[in-house]
Amino acid sequence: MNSQHPSDLNDVLKSKKDAFQIPDGVIYLDGNSLGVLPKHVPDRLQEVVRSEWGTSLIRAWNTHSWIDLPGRTGDRIGKLIGAPAGTVVACDSTSVNVFKVLSAALSLRPDRKVILSDAGNFPTDLYVASGLKELLAKGHELRVVAPEDVRSAITPDVAVLMLTQVDYRTGRVHDMADLTELAHEAGALAIWDLAHSAGAIPVDLQGAKADFAVGCGYKYLNGGPGAPAFLYVAPDHQDKVASPLTGWMGHEAPFAFDLDYRPVTGINRMTVGTPPILSLSSLHAALDVFEDVDMNDIRAKSISLSELFISEVEAKCPQLQLASPRDPHQRGSQVSFSFTEGYAVMQALIARGVIGDFRAPDIMRFGFTPLYLSHQDIVDAVEILADILETRSWDTPAFKTRAKVT
Ligand SMILES: *Cc1c(COP(=O)(O)O)cnc(C)c1O
Repeated sequence: MNSQHPSDLNDVLKSKKDAFQIPDGVIYLDGNSLGVLPKHVPDRLQEVVRSEWGTSLIRAWNTHSWIDLPGRTGDRIGKLIGAPAGTVVACDSTSVNVFKVLSAALSLRPDRKVILSDAGNFPTDLYVASGLKELLAKGHELRVVAPEDVRSAITPDVAVLMLTQVDYRTGRVHDMADLTELAHEAGALAIWDLAHSAGAIPVDLQGAKADFAVGCGYKYLNGGPGAPAFLYVAPDHQDKVASPLTGWMGHEAPFAFDLDYRPVTGINRMTVGTPPILSLSSLHAALDVFEDVDMNDIRAKSISLSELFISEVEAKCPQLQLASPRDPHQRGSQVSFSFTEGYAVMQALIARGVIGDFRAPDIMRFGFTPLYLSHQDIVDAVEILADILETRSWDTPAFKTRAKVT
């Protein structure tokens, strides 16, 4: 398929595709789950391993500023999410960071007991909240409402509103500024999970007055499998919050080896132990590809790709039901369709090089990453999808056996 879709002719991001290693014959619609490898990252990792680790050894903590890599990487991410320097740090996993910021937020509202979230949240966030509530044993309640009921559920007993901005299944977007303002009016704090926002849509944490945020490094930020996550604390809270994981990296003077814990000022108090330099180096280098792009251009192309995808699927695959908001401004950078045999159809698609993923019970999920996808890719992908549905080539036992990771 060598044709070119007209919308690709004046695509300002077109040249970016070359920065990524995309396997031949693959149309990758899963950058929302695991981003594609930027071509320059292996060389950078090679250098970190062979030269920095191999030659500089322990001296590299100072000579190559390894010790500052969590903050330097955080600052790069901060530029994509409207967070000023010194407010974001790259560390731990998103799950662990949810634990830390939720605990910190609750300690700022000691008289309130309600954690408000919604059923569109990613389960790990809810599991962590529930575990923290048990651990604290102070009578907290985790109140989970339907996404459309969040506004009316922000009552004066809420300590913390904890939401994921872009729903991982449907792509539905919450209005961060509006809900944060409502939370503040009710005396609550707001935590935002940006797992499907960072690098996908423009985010303005400071403009929205968010109190805390977390997010993943391995999705739209392309940091690599299990890349460190990130964490944001608003400047006003930084020196008031306590981390529940008081490790030496959050200490005022880690190398004084004092027996008592004293939190350092600033964002670093939310860090815990020795940073994973190889993974962090990969994430830090991967962020190069965002250096000269405007998130508004990414958003515009993402909308164009997803609109094209929906119209193509609805025209050629009448068996599938749109499971995402139809208004592109209510969606993140993904589109989902539901189909009872969605798992098998997705396996059949993957076997033909079109990679998306499946989320129970019946959601076929397609992510749009404007840095390395073209409109022609979308047309080609839907053609294959339509063929699979028409010929029912998905209808074999091999495609119906569920793997561990879906
Ligand atoms: C992907 C995702 C996570 C994953 O958390 P990990 O700790 O990295 O496994 C958490 N929250 C949301 C909203 C996600 O989409």
